[in-house]
Amino acid sequence: MNRIAVLTSGGDAPGMNACVRAVVRTALNFGLDVYGIERGYQGLIDGDVYQLNTKSVSDIIQRGGTFLRSARCPEFVDVKYQQKAAEVLNAYGIEGLIVIGGDGTFRGAQALSKNFGINVIGIPGTIDNDLGYTDFTLGFDTAVNTVLWAINSLRDTMHAHDRVSVLQVMGRHCGDIALYSAITGGAEYVLVPEVPYDIEEIAKSLKKTKVKGKTSNMIVFAEGAGDSKEFMDKLQELTDMDIKYTSLGHIQRGGSPSMRDRLLAVKWGIHAVELLRDGKDCIATGIKGDSIVDVPFEDVFNVKKVFDIELYNKLKLLTY
Ligand code: ADP
Repeated sequence: MNRIAVLTSGGDAPGMNACVRAVVRTALNFGLDVYGIERGYQGLIDGDVYQLNTKSVSDIIQRGGTFLRSARCPEFVDVKYQQKAAEVLNAYGIEGLIVIGGDGTFRGAQALSKNFGINVIGIPGTIDNDLGYTDFTLGFDTAVNTVLWAINSLRDTMHAHDRVSVLQVMGRHCGDIALYSAITGGAEYVLVPEVPYDIEEIAKSLKKTKVKGKTSNMIVFAEGAGDSKEFMDKLQELTDMDIKYTSLGHIQRGGSPSMRDRLLAVKWGIHAVELLRDGKDCIATGIKGDSIVDVPFEDVFNVKKVFDIELYNKLKLLTY
């Protein structure tokens, strides 16, 4: 293999730039040509491909987002568009492709391998931490740290005015951002899609803690857990407390990647190039405990994400 390419696809995540940097520098040090593809599979179809050198990735390790940009490209499920993408790769003499993204991105890569013989390696890049085969995904740690920053600020003002805060956070169908930020941010309650909640119970508990002298509370609400505004209105009715609502939105996607995300980016970026160099194909790299793991795409798609119910239950031991 002489020539490889890298793309970022699906939702952007802090650490993607650090990862592309690691891919590019490693490839160059192995004597491989390396190309960047803009806007994921859309850019690949459109032929937005250009060669990268060591300077192309200078001064990006600390930046959120992705300088290659990202896009959703729904038509890529159609083999006609996959063929167009393969033709572009062939025209540039690119034999191996590293994709940074989530489950959908890996499926697109698998199609390029199965149907057109391109060697592909996947790196899990999504803030949602919704892939079962790896303990963590790139961008998750930074997103949780951003939520912690918001919790710290909200805590100050909630305490000053004896208020309850409902904070809606991202994660799509996965409650990990909410769970990890609630536990490490000292929140009193966390609502996640994986565990049904009882609003009457929460109201009762809030009233009980108020009698005990606790007047400000933090409730972290995962976006996949339901309608957080409706929840807040109902809670207000049930408790007659002063409740304020905040939705953090896309702030959670941006920002300079944390040390943990940069480290994952560096390790996975280097490893993905090694895998391509060694002729591997349709492998996703991940982390289990402290170890980097390689998992075939087929297994990645079959492993269900398991919610950490033990960690969730620990929150109950910490309530007032
Ligand atoms: P993520 O990679 O974060 O899961 P998406 O699900 O949006 O994000 O997938 C990213 C892109 O991957 C899609 O826009 C599409 O181009 C491609 N993709 C997703 N699913 C498939 C599939 N089944 N076959 C081929 N390509 C796919």
